[in-house]
Amino acid sequence: MANLLIVEDDDLLRDGLTDLLRQAGHRIDNCADGLSAKDALEAQQVDAVLLDLGLPKLDGMDLLRWIRQRFETLPVMILTARDSIDDRVEGLSSGADDYLTKPFNNAELTARVQALLRRASLPATQKDTGNASNGLRMDPDLPRVWIHGVASELTQREWELLSLLQQRMDKVVSREDVTAAWQNESAEPLASNALEVYIHRLRRKIKGSGLNIRNVRGLGYMLETL
Ligand code: CA
Repeated sequence: MANLLIVEDDDLLRDGLTDLLRQAGHRIDNCADGLSAKDALEAQQVDAVLLDLGLPKLDGMDLLRWIRQRFETLPVMILTARDSIDDRVEGLSSGADDYLTKPFNNAELTARVQALLRRASLPATQKDTGNASNGLRMDPDLPRVWIHGVASELTQREWELLSLLQQRMDKVVSREDVTAAWQNESAEPLASNALEVYIHRLRRKIKGSGLNIRNVRGLGYMLETL
């Protein structure tokens, strides 16, 4: 089961695709224009996008370019009636992972979506540094985390700190380790209680994930499962 976003302005087709892929066991969110698709992608975790090219408000090709800047590895399948060679080439060179021309066969569409997700899951799994049994997933590209599929924005420093803790899950990370990681990234001097402040904020931001940052007195901090 995957979270799929369908972006299609034709109501009948959008509803049909939604039903079809729900029956295939996926969670579906759908949008009728490019701008609301952007909002949907910012607000939740999406595993793959089915994208029509001719869209109101923001064209599908422009949305695709935006997706590639923002979510480098998110799988995108273009669904379009435009079947000329030029459109195919433009779609693929703009970063689409697959291309299906309307009208399409339902069984083929379902199979191609499965193939897209299967291919995507290989690198995505390797990039997941966390324990799959908890509800926290670090975004590999942007300073944010997903807690049970809901985005939580972090500062760059919070993200660095949490990455470090997560890489060493169930092991103590010392104050010196954190300071060293932060120094690589900024020359700004840190207040003496800065680490405590960041830990405090992170604890609030990862609340509900099933993970906790434990204070190991005299040694440092440890990320553990609750
Ligand atoms: Ca359209």
